Amino acid sequence: MNSGNPSESSARIGSRSERHFWLVSNRERTGGVRHAFRGARWDGKRADLSVCGERVALAQPSDLDWILFPTCVTCNDILKAENLSRHG
Ligand SMILES: [Zn+2]
Repeated sequence: MNSGNPSESSARIGSRSERHFWLVSNRERTGGVRHAFRGARWDGKRADLSVCGERVALAQPSDLDWILFPTCVTCNDILKAENLSRHG
């Protein structure tokens, strides 16, 4: 047995599934945007860091919010890129 082996644990990077969810960030007057956030689901935090790196206020969105507010393009692009790199 060869005992001087370097760590083999780094061989499987990326096997962990990263979850995300979408939530509306409602800003007064300026309107809202749908950002993506890391995690399985919203745990009721009042503010969180979005995938695109913005610190935004969170609130339970109404159905109308989901329809009216646009999706954050930056969040969308980042998640898409991560998805592509993960699957080759
Ligand atoms: Zn965003």
